[in-house]
Amino acid sequence: MAKTKKIKRIKIDADRCNGCRGCEIACSAYHAEPRFSSINPAKSRVQVITHRLRNIWLPVFAGDYAPAECMGRDVYTIDGTEYDECAFCRAACPSRDLFKDPDSGLPLKCDMCEGEDEPWCVKWCLNDVLTYEEVEVPVEEDEPEPLGEVELGLEALANKHGLNKVMETLARMQVAKKA
Ligand code: SF4
Ligand code: SF4
Repeated sequence: MAKTKKIKRIKIDADRCNGCRGCEIACSAYHAEPRFSSINPAKSRVQVITHRLRNIWLPVFAGDYAPAECMGRDVYTIDGTEYDECAFCRAACPSRDLFKDPDSGLPLKCDMCEGEDEPWCVKWCLNDVLTYEEVEVPVEEDEPEPLGEVELGLEALANKHGLNKVMETLARMQVAKKA
């Protein structure tokens, strides 16, 4: 029997979105330290791409970190308006600040509000734009485990400062903690 895994996904009915940004507020509050202690939409793992004059709103969810920016950029024309493809891209990457923590600069990735029955952005979208579901999908036998938040952060730091510097800093922190 083929191996399967359960994946969580959010379906987006963009036609219903009115750009209220409740999803950004809910996400940033849920991921604040301590939880719900602050609101900062710049720290949200969902960002609403807008074109106010044309009444276009599109929630985009932070995906994987990309250590290098794309070599080429496509341009999409939708309903007469041109959009750089970066507008819809889910990656935190060196070419822009989107999906990076404004304090630390570390990449942000949607974690589907791990541990919650339903993601907070879904709960707080009062226009039923976002629908959460869990589905079984087939997997390749040798498919690697996806990187978690800590691995992603360390990878970003290693790309920026070099692995040796990160290792030295961690070792120093460990010694300081024991002292
Ligand atoms: S699912 Fe959770 S982590 Fe992902 S964007 Fe929504 S609130 Fe943020
Ligand atoms: S909360 Fe819903 S309606 Fe409001 S911006 Fe987010 S997706 Fe759009």
